[in-house]
Amino acid sequence: MRHNPEQIWADILSDLSSSARNDVYLRQAKPTDLTEGKLTVTVPAVLAKDQIESRFLVDIDSAIKGRIGLGASFDIEVKEPDSPPRSGPGTSTTSDSMDPPADASDASPAEARLNSNYTFKRFVIGTNNRLSHAAALAVSENPGTVYNPLFFCGGVGLGKTHLLHAIGNRVHEIHPELKVLYVTSETFMNEYIDSIIVRSTSQDFRGKYRTADVLLIDDIQFLQRKDGTQEEFFHTFNELHQNSNQVVMTSDRPPKNLEAVEERLRSRFEWGMVAEISTPQFETRVAILRQKCEDHGFDAVPDPVLNAIADVVQTNIRELEGALLRLVTEASLFNEQLTEEFTYRTLGNHTGPPTTQGHVAITAEDILKHVGTYFRIKPSDLKSARRTKQLVIPRQIGMYLCRTRTSLSYSEIAAAFGRSDHTTVMHACDRIANAIERDAQLNQTVNTLIEDMK
Ligand code: ADP
Ligand code: MG
Repeated sequence: MRHNPEQIWADILSDLSSSARNDVYLRQAKPTDLTEGKLTVTVPAVLAKDQIESRFLVDIDSAIKGRIGLGASFDIEVKEPDSPPRSGPGTSTTSDSMDPPADASDASPAEARLNSNYTFKRFVIGTNNRLSHAAALAVSENPGTVYNPLFFCGGVGLGKTHLLHAIGNRVHEIHPELKVLYVTSETFMNEYIDSIIVRSTSQDFRGKYRTADVLLIDDIQFLQRKDGTQEEFFHTFNELHQNSNQVVMTSDRPPKNLEAVEERLRSRFEWGMVAEISTPQFETRVAILRQKCEDHGFDAVPDPVLNAIADVVQTNIRELEGALLRLVTEASLFNEQLTEEFTYRTLGNHTGPPTTQGHVAITAEDILKHVGTYFRIKPSDLKSARRTKQLVIPRQIGMYLCRTRTSLSYSEIAAAFGRSDHTTVMHACDRIANAIERDAQLNQTVNTLIEDMK
């Protein structure tokens, strides 16, 4: 792992929520030192220190432990803008503490705001992201020529941001002369607003974005209803596109569903390629966990534990990784063996269904009854071996609900549906989890059933 305070700080910020990342105080914090696992950031006023400590310390602390290791710590120093710099000769005394790191050239990954952990090498390819991955690679090799713009869409925590940084890192590696810029739409908006308030900086703002060779813009859905920022982005986009500079965007939904984005922008988003990332299958989830173990230097997590994590956390890769970190941390804190049983016990009360908190636990029979009533099918038919079209989807929904709303294992669910093979249930759950992402009607059906069962 690296020991560069700027990079580590950028990584930590990328782990925080977007409201934290854009917090006015947190944006003032500049990483200044990283020694023996202690990261120090400097802020220009005591108020900023207080605000950061009271609101973000817990999140920063867990992010830093995830990034550097369990012994890592964090410190905030206050350095009034006028006070002499800590770093001795060579640093200008007039330099404003809000300046970017002095040694960062235009094209350096730090200035491009790239997270160097998010590379292609660490990105696991599965059926859920194969197309997006291929498009991302193609664009990194020939920016501005193949798919322009490239647009990734998919649910939360499925790897969109990772791919975006991977493109940036790869471009930087093979075309170091190109200026790469990563920005979230929210930051783009905030900087745009800053540039309106401080008129003198408006040329800088435009210059910065309109001269990028590769602009990576994350979470574009945020621009919905931000008309002024959309207008600004429209011009930025046009200028970049006309000059064959690459634009890559991500969004939690496809362009056509960005209802509150102007039509002229929405249609431009579809000019190049729109690539979707869906939820990973069980095998991909396990492969991702293996990769994460390697990334974090965990070499003693047994396979049954990885399988159990992949079994419990099904839809969000960020949570998958969070669950792994949590297990490793708790096992070492409580001196426990990392076993399958420990995994289910630990994750069960975290991600498990809300069946124990004052509610009467829902049983598989309840679910069979509800699904049967909803689709007008007898529960005994849902349990039967018949595979007619009318039965297959309701049965899979039933299995999915058992998996997500009860604490039954795959085998127990299989038994409740009169089946001996638990892999049928695993596939059904994966299939429904995937389909929900894409099919609004199915999503609604499942939500109605969940509401009904309350
Ligand atoms: P999104 O931007 O879609 O919400 P992120 O890119 O932030 O998701 O991904 C969340 C976490 O999951 C990150 O830690 C990322 O590295 C990891 N991740 C997602 N997809 C993959 C993958 N295919 N291989 C390895 N890690 C992945
Ligand atoms: Mg993201």
